[in-house]
Amino acid sequence: MAKNTDTKGMTTDSQLARRLTDVQGRIRVAAKAAEREVQTIRLLAVSKAKPAEAVRALASLGVTEIAENYLAEGLAKQAQLADIPGLCWHFIGRVQSNKTAQIATHFSWVQSVDRLKIARRLSESRPQALPSLNLCVQVNLDAEPQKSGVLPEEAFALCRQIAALPNLRLRGLMAVPSVSRTDAFTRLSALYAEIGARMRGFDTLSMGMSADFEQAIAAGSTLVRLGTALFGERPSKSGV
Ligand SMILES: *Cc1c(COP(=O)(O)O)cnc(C)c1O
Repeated sequence: MAKNTDTKGMTTDSQLARRLTDVQGRIRVAAKAAEREVQTIRLLAVSKAKPAEAVRALASLGVTEIAENYLAEGLAKQAQLADIPGLCWHFIGRVQSNKTAQIATHFSWVQSVDRLKIARRLSESRPQALPSLNLCVQVNLDAEPQKSGVLPEEAFALCRQIAALPNLRLRGLMAVPSVSRTDAFTRLSALYAEIGARMRGFDTLSMGMSADFEQAIAAGSTLVRLGTALFGERPSKSGV
């Protein structure tokens, strides 16, 4: 297998393995501290701005859930990795309405749904031969203008409308809260519990990134989305 390189020097497969072991250990410690079973927390590898070879190396270490933010970049990597069975691709970036058909065809999850129009289009274009498309509703907890997401007070209504659409399976909530809002994870967790009590099938609370996944686990995250902690720093131009 080829060694992986990135723009900030070499990332070898052994470095990747070390980072993965470290992250898994930290997830275990955080779960234990929160008196949670570690199996209730899934690891999602965010590979934006990283080469397909790095994803291949991670897959060989047993990580199968992979997330991309940009459609073209995601499709290119999927094509390069088509020989690997069992990879599960999540779309976590802003969903443009002219890209919904391709997203609905090539991904198993879309975590960044914040409008009914987008959910409708995903529903209409999900191929019948595939299982239902898994969705999370993205919440903009603090109404930050630069971020996607439905406002917390509008989340339940959107969830109810999405749940009525065919070819979709609404699984839960996702957010990218500002690190400075230290209570954001507990607020999202409360919203998730409140909506989950009124909806069938809610089982995914997607929160926590490289800088804050331990706090997210303490607050009840069931899926942490890790880029930097697994793959190393990204070139600075690729943000959220
Ligand atoms: C980039 C990104 C991540 C991963 O960020 P890191 O800080 O590198 O772990 C997680 N979630 C979303 C929505 C992202 O855009």
